Amino acid sequence: MSTPSSEPAKFDAIIVGAGVGGLYAIYRLRKLGLKVRAFEAAGGVGGTWYWNRYPGCRCDVESMEYSYSFSDELQQEWHWPERYGTQPEILRYVNHVADRFDLRRDIEFNTRVREAVLDRNTNTWTVTTDKGSVATARFCIMATGNLSTPRRPNYPGLDSFKGKWYHTGLWPHDGVDFTGLRVGVIGTGSSGVQSIPIIARQAKHLHVFQRTANFSLPARNVPMPPDKERAHKAEYPERRRAAYDTPFGIAGYPAPVKSALDASEAERQRAYEAKWAEGGSISFLYSYTDLLLRQEANETASEFVRRKIRATVKDPKTAELLCPDSHPIGTKRLILDTDYYETYNRDNVTLVDIRSKPIEEITPAGLRTADAEYALDAIVFATGFDAMTGAMKEIDIRTDKGATIEEKWADGPRTYLGIMMAGFPNLFMVTGPQSPGVKSQMILSCEQHVDWIADCLQHLRDKGLHRIEPEKAAEDAWVQHTNEVADGTLYPLANSWYTGANIPGKPRVFMPYVGGVTAYKKKCDEVAARGYEGFMLAV
Ligand SMILES: Cc1cc2nc3c(=O)[nH]c(=O)nc-3n(C[C@H](O)[C@H](O)[C@H](O)COP(=O)(O)OP(=O)(O)OC[C@H]3O[C@@H](n4cnc5c(N)ncnc54)[C@H](O)[C@@H]3O)c2cc1C
Repeated sequence: MSTPSSEPAKFDAIIVGAGVGGLYAIYRLRKLGLKVRAFEAAGGVGGTWYWNRYPGCRCDVESMEYSYSFSDELQQEWHWPERYGTQPEILRYVNHVADRFDLRRDIEFNTRVREAVLDRNTNTWTVTTDKGSVATARFCIMATGNLSTPRRPNYPGLDSFKGKWYHTGLWPHDGVDFTGLRVGVIGTGSSGVQSIPIIARQAKHLHVFQRTANFSLPARNVPMPPDKERAHKAEYPERRRAAYDTPFGIAGYPAPVKSALDASEAERQRAYEAKWAEGGSISFLYSYTDLLLRQEANETASEFVRRKIRATVKDPKTAELLCPDSHPIGTKRLILDTDYYETYNRDNVTLVDIRSKPIEEITPAGLRTADAEYALDAIVFATGFDAMTGAMKEIDIRTDKGATIEEKWADGPRTYLGIMMAGFPNLFMVTGPQSPGVKSQMILSCEQHVDWIADCLQHLRDKGLHRIEPEKAAEDAWVQHTNEVADGTLYPLANSWYTGANIPGKPRVFMPYVGGVTAYKKKCDEVAARGYEGFMLAV
């Protein structure tokens, strides 16, 4: 790589990020014969699965589904030992993929892209890294991730804390032993809920500081049944195709056929009990057609889970605090757990409500809420991410005509299909905002985006074209469509990271496309088939 004083290194395409999206982009663009270079801030591949090493971290989509489909040999030869892969197992898998397809040689690790600037005359992006190195390419692919910018705690007094603190999204590689310690976990989203039962088994005492009670369902993780693995592998190609015909990009769950309100109370209870016993979030949300569409229907499912919480947690006050009352089930990321609610029956675990009595400051000896002080040896911040836009906005993306991403997304993200932005030609996003990304099985979505981008680059090359950029009108229409689709559902009722509500000052805009993977892919395919409708193509 060049330094600022020498000529920039030249590539056909620069890829930012080497998570599952960036890795597949390297593989796919190389197949087109393009000279590619990827930059990755981490010391290795894997993205999410490299950074999130907290205890209990695992995927909540079954691993036979949450894996690459692009190589049948790969999916046949890989053995997933459990129903849901653990973080170490998924990271081992991603490393295997990087080795098997020789992807590392095009990646510069420990290198963060700080700036990406377009010269519109030459249609060239110039990328500068935190190492001061500079590279240019006609195309820039942002595979920077939706959940890759940890929300750093900004409580007053944090620097004075005498113990150790950790963020689940930046977990130490050699692990943390909480044995004999007084631990505080702040945050009860997915990372908190996954880690709390394990930390509780080690800690002398665990205080869980909860602002919002979230819905969590049992994962029912089990060792992979050999007959299930055999059957799945025998049908892999068909199952992968079938996944595109589902709302969340996950096959194998029968689509619901009736409204929750058309079922009797007894019938609903039987259905929810069966899903509860089966484990998994898709299966539960597929109980009825309208759980994410009508509040009355949703309430039947929400109340079922609240009843389960009350039946599990022995202390009625704690149980009531754990019962979500701020949003319909499924409108925030639905969590899967192993023994989460049971953990509150342990003598060494205390739930603290920080919605009514917020944390005021971190002190040298622990933390202070509005009404009490807590002595802590370690604090775990399970406070999530600046989701969906954070990683892109951390890069100074601009054009020589003065357009900046800062301004472009000042009131929330604006994209066409979640893949490109008007005013920023030749800059692609993998699972950008206003795509189904986080509302889907994300490896499938990464593959679909990268395939679309690769086909687009092939098209440009075949036609002797060098520039592609969305029309502003097409982008406006897509943003409006995304909002209209969301407004037809219950999703906007929740203050969630889908709307930026977890980041103070972030514009409140519902960011994912929730019209489903099928409708979205159809639209993407049609746009391409019509010669990239809604895009301006130029030499
Ligand atoms: C704890 C956790 C559990 C999850 N579980 C599931 C699940 O069960 N199912 C599911 O579908 N999805 C899940 N997800 C979502 C997950 O993020 C995606 O499934 C998938 O891993 C995203 O891959 P990616 O390549 O798009 O992004 P990432 O994996 O986030 O990778 C992006 C990479 O880009 C790098 N990067 C960002 N900015 C820069 C920069 N400026 N310069 C250089 N490098 C940069 C980052 O370091 C990172 O390595 C989970 C996410 C988390 C956090």
